[in-house]
Amino acid sequence: MSVDVVGRLIKIPYILVLGMGGTISGISENSDNPLQYQAGKVSVKNLLKNAGVDSVCGCKVFSKQVANVDSQNLTAEHLTELGKLVIQGLEDPLLKGLVITHGTDTIEEVGIFLHLICGNKANKVGKRIVLTGAMLPSNALLSDGPKNLADALKWVSSEFDDYPGGVYGVFAGKVCLGMDLSKRHATDLDAPLQAAHCSPIDNLTPAWLSLVRFVLLTLETDLPIPESDAWPWVEILTSYAGARPESLQLLLKSGMQGLVIAGTGLGGFHSAWLPGVLMATKKGIAIVRCSRTGAGLVSRDIPEKEMDGMVASGNLSAPKARIGLQLALNAVHQAKVEMVPTTWQAIFANTSFRNHSPIIVR
Ligand code: ASP
Repeated sequence: MSVDVVGRLIKIPYILVLGMGGTISGISENSDNPLQYQAGKVSVKNLLKNAGVDSVCGCKVFSKQVANVDSQNLTAEHLTELGKLVIQGLEDPLLKGLVITHGTDTIEEVGIFLHLICGNKANKVGKRIVLTGAMLPSNALLSDGPKNLADALKWVSSEFDDYPGGVYGVFAGKVCLGMDLSKRHATDLDAPLQAAHCSPIDNLTPAWLSLVRFVLLTLETDLPIPESDAWPWVEILTSYAGARPESLQLLLKSGMQGLVIAGTGLGGFHSAWLPGVLMATKKGIAIVRCSRTGAGLVSRDIPEKEMDGMVASGNLSAPKARIGLQLALNAVHQAKVEMVPTTWQAIFANTSFRNHSPIIVR
């Protein structure tokens, strides 16, 4: 018998669905245009009730409302609370897996966050944490939410021991690793998977499964969750034609601890920012460069030799690199307290998978 994260005494295996909000919980008042809607209006309990879900594969399904927001408004507090609940769930022997209903706008941040704070633990205990959501509100005629929720419950409860524990995303009949989620289209139903290595849920691609196993094996450790008031301040600056030095100069006066440059192409940035970047590295601001294209690899010394104090993001997009850098800076802070010598560069290097094939496996 155990007390689950909702506080009930549980004696049977169960699956927990955590509600965060988003369009899957959205309601539209305009039947002619369901894209005119408000996210985060229906409770996760009602989503399950409307879908008639009480149990799957012999596991009782429980739910907990963590938040009910449009994910554009996700806060550091939400991330800390969600991370702690997920870890608590992984430690409960009767909990078989977790589904998280979430807004798609910032699902890529949550995907990489969970992957980095508990992907290793989830893999070791053989439990799946599955993020899902919807592109159309819950009362739209063709809403994709019910099918996505059903698929997420299917993936989380699949009895095949063969499928590794870890953090996943499920949308439009496909599954990917949570760290690969990224919204790359404003309206398509598979928007969060368009840049991801993924596989159809009903007909798993062996190549995808091998890649997943390999990626999860390379995750040697989990990073600590920052307390809600201790998330390091990291900004994102996008390079563009006609960039002005002043934008970076302003940020240098702000007190930020880290900067992600969403560079052009292979991760380059406008030379107008060069003096500011040099100044930032001298001030000890951690800098990561990635590509504003949002997909592919940004590698060390490509195309030019790396500047001191700057690190290439590997396969992390700018929002993901920002989360990775925040977690790395927080881990360094905690390591200092425990007097363990390390650097943010060494920790950040393990936050991204640097050898992903640039060819997408579908
Ligand atoms: N604005 C919504 C959200 O991220 C979009 C969605 O869920 O698809 O909460």
